[in-house]
Amino acid sequence: MRFERRDGILVAGVGLLAAGMVPFVAPAYAIAIAAAVFLGIKWYSERRQRDVLSQIGKGVCAECGSAITGAECPQCGDSGA
Ligand SMILES: [Zn+2]
Repeated sequence: MRFERRDGILVAGVGLLAAGMVPFVAPAYAIAIAAAVFLGIKWYSERRQRDVLSQIGKGVCAECGSAITGAECPQCGDSGA
């Protein structure tokens, strides 16, 4: 798991979330819930990033510019040429 500069914003966000929960739940629970939210968002954003990178890796259509996800462009197919 890599940490980036924008993770600071995420840490601040879940920190505020934990602080907001403290009046209602035990601080240990607030920290545990905030940590779970942080890890969930990290996991989701890393998965999203991997999906985007794998699509870019297959190239972009020269005709319409959409990302090629399969063997050929999903927009043009083989009729575009
Ligand atoms: Zn195309």
